[in-house]
Amino acid sequence: MKGFAKMIWDFAEALKRHGNDGFKHVTVTEYTTRMKTCVDCEHFTDSKSCGLCGCHMPVKARWRTSQCADNPPKWLATNGSKGKEGTDTDPSD
Ligand code: SF4
Repeated sequence: MKGFAKMIWDFAEALKRHGNDGFKHVTVTEYTTRMKTCVDCEHFTDSKSCGLCGCHMPVKARWRTSQCADNPPKWLATNGSKGKEGTDTDPSD
């Protein structure tokens, strides 16, 4: 798990990418696929967060610019850009 200050910084960067993408979300199908992957992942925690990046996945998985924190990632950004991943945190969106 990242340090708190690093998580805040990464959240600001993730929010910027999300904003640059027009705050768009993935489709319901894509969201469901991402969340199923996370729920089945060894890094998924009881608090529905990713143990690698600390992100609250029900929120992170909605953003088109988000990407799985693992290396290699288990799912990718869908807006055509390459996300800097492992960086999003819960925006309470
Ligand atoms: S973001 Fe990736 S590493 Fe994190 S819980 Fe989801 S699938 Fe696992």
